[in-house]
Parts: sequence; C-alpha cells; structure tokens
Amino acid sequence: MAERIIPLADHRLLNAAPAVPTSLETPTGLLSDALARPLQDLRISVTDRCNFRCVYCMPKDVFDKDYAFLPHSSLLSFEEITRVAKIFVAHGVRKIRLTGGEPLLRKNVEKLIAMLGDLRTPDGESLDLTLTTNASLLARKARALKDAGLRRVTVSLDALDETTFRRMNDVDFPVADVLAGIDAAHKAGLGPIKINMVVKGGMNDQEILPMARHFKGSPFILRFIEYMDVGASNGWRMDEVVPSSEVVRRINAEMPLEEIEPNYTGETAERWRYKDGGGEIGLISSVTRAFCQDCSRARLSTEGKLYTCLFATAGHDLRALLRAGRSDEEISTAVAHLWRARSDRYSELRTANTEGLQRPVKKVEMSYIGG
Ligand code: SAM
Ligand code: SF4
Ligand code: SF4
Repeated sequence: MAERIIPLADHRLLNAAPAVPTSLETPTGLLSDALARPLQDLRISVTDRCNFRCVYCMPKDVFDKDYAFLPHSSLLSFEEITRVAKIFVAHGVRKIRLTGGEPLLRKNVEKLIAMLGDLRTPDGESLDLTLTTNASLLARKARALKDAGLRRVTVSLDALDETTFRRMNDVDFPVADVLAGIDAAHKAGLGPIKINMVVKGGMNDQEILPMARHFKGSPFILRFIEYMDVGASNGWRMDEVVPSSEVVRRINAEMPLEEIEPNYTGETAERWRYKDGGGEIGLISSVTRAFCQDCSRARLSTEGKLYTCLFATAGHDLRALLRAGRSDEEISTAVAHLWRARSDRYSELRTANTEGLQRPVKKVEMSYIGG
C-alpha cells in the first residue's frame, strides 16, 4: 500500500534565514564542505508548476486543482536569482542547471538565461548553462533558448510506447511532441542532448530495450535513472526500483556494452558504451550505488531556499536575506558558512541500510526543490 500522502505546503514552513556572521569573508572560489566536497554545481528551480503529472514526481491525487502552488510574489525574481547565482559562482560554481517543475513554463525564462549567461567564473570563463525539461514546449522555444545563451538541454522521456508514456506523464501528452522537441533542440545546437528515463518497475521497465535501440547510434545520450524516494508523495517502494545492474544486464544481452571512465569527478552517471561503436548510455544509480562522496551540488528552490541535499528536510531562506537588504558580502559569507557545515549523504546512508533507514517524514518535493 502507498504510504500516507503529506501535502507539500507543510514542508515549506521548515525554513529559517541563515545567520549572517559578523566577520565578513571574501570568496576564494575554493569552498569545501565538511566532507571535503567543493561547491561546483547549482540547480535552480524556476517554477514549482508543471503541465505533466508524472506518477513518480507529481502524482495527480496530490497535485490536483486544490493544490497550493507558490504565489507569484513568493518566487525569486530574475534579478534575485542572478544575484544569488553570482555569489555562488564566486564560491566556485561552474555549472548552473535550470529546473523545476517545468522550467519552460516560467514566463520569459530566456531573459533569465541571458542574465546568467553574462556571469563569469573567477578565472573569466562563462558558465556551463543547461536546463532539464519535459520538452513539451521545446520545439517552440529551442531557438530562442539557444540565442539567449543556453548551452545544452537534458530531456526527460520515460517511454516510446504511447500508452506507457501517457500513463507515466498522466496528462495524455504524446511521445511525438517530445521527439519533435528533441529534434528542434538538436537543430538549434543545444547539444550534446541527454535523454533521462526514470525506470519504475512494473510501469515502464519493458521500455528499456526499445529506448536503448531507438537512441543507439543517435547523437543523443540516453540515461537510465533509478526511481528515487524523493519527496513524500510518490509512495516510493524499494521493490519498484529497477537496479542499474539489471538495466545493463538486459541491454548487454542484446547489444554488448563495456564500462568507460567518467568524464569528471562527481559525474552522477556511470558511463557504458556499445562495443560495436553505437555510442554510449548513462546509468544514474542513486539508490543502489550512491554518489554522495563526490556530490558538489547545491539547490535553490523556487522561492529562494538553499538546500544542500536533494533529500533535505529543511532549507535556508536566502530570499529573507535578499529582501532584508543584506549586502552581497553578507549573503556570500552566510553561504560559505552553510557549505562548510554541510555533511549530507542521504543516499549513501540509504544504500547502507535500505530496509532499516528511518526515512525523514518531511522530505521536500522534487518539483519544488528542483530535480
Ligand atoms: N520537468 C522537468 C523534467 O521533467 O525534465 C525538470 C524537473 S524534473 C523534477 C527533473 C528530473 O527529475 C527529471 O528527469 C525527472 O524524470 C526526474 N525525477 C523526478 N522524480 C523522480 C524520482 N522520484 N526518481 C528519479 N527521478 C525523478
Ligand atoms: Fe513535471 Fe518533470 Fe516532475 Fe514530470 S518529472 S511531473 S515533467 S517536474
Ligand atoms: Fe548529493 Fe544528497 Fe544526493 Fe547524496 S543524497 S548525492 S548528498 S543530493
């Protein structure tokens, strides 16, 4: 039986403004947390809304017409997001991913991309600016996104079979429109494009092979994501997780694979390539092979709360500092203190003790914190 559903509104109250230390610091670009992990990656949720109701993320019975999404006044403005991003870049962030909810639903998101595109790292480099999308609006927006300075996109697609995909997105959205979005992004030069497939056992695992066959030899990198116990409303059960090892086993039986080296330390996906030269796939095994030890990601929620882990139960209210007239130096120092104190490693602890782990009751929903 699915576990009890806890509305998100409860969780959003669990946030406090971080303390601002009196002794202010100049960022060095070399911030490290309590487990010696640098701060390199910032994921920004630009909206908590979505036009899909993926069963593993925003199940319809929770995210229904009565659901209290954030009011517009709660959202960080583009100026506020850019100000926070600039502070993070000074601390060492080199990669920014816009997410949500569905980020392309945020009005004029291209304008935000252009503002973030103007930021430079301490050594003068531009950022690796990317976005994760369900692609429903991508065919229409790909060109404008590229022109605004977006480097690449990751597209979520859970099945090629029409019935299965519609059951997963739960709003009857057709596969063909996602494929058209991927094609438009490719033509606009938003590559290399990664395709994310969340595998939920008994729901879409029969699509592993058709998806692998479809994207083999294409310019797109298909990545299989283990269904995670994120949030509090998807009724997650361990027996619905299809381990990455099983995904590899099934594909390898038909299309032989070999494992290859990661591109960089901290890469979330394990990489495998087809022995016949048909390209590569990725496996994101956050349940069976946690990658907390290299996790260099911070998350900024739609309303400006900083989360140091996807499975956090509480965030740090940076918006309160922004709107209280705190200076960049003050906010930067507060962020430095928060990151230095960070010791999150939820997935590792879960892997070590999957059955016995006391799951926090009020984990934040992915659509709010940003996937
Ligand atoms: N709406 C956009 C999309 O779907 O691409 C961006 C936000 S979505 C929360 C980001 C990513 O998180 C997607 O690739 C989605 O499939 C993944 N995701 C959401 N819930 C998940 C879960 N319970 N387990 C694993 N991945 C999940
Ligand atoms: Fe929307 Fe993305 Fe969540 Fe699906 S995974 S409901 S598209 S935010
Ligand atoms: Fe990073 Fe938390 Fe995920 Fe571990 S569980 S990889 S610390 S976000």
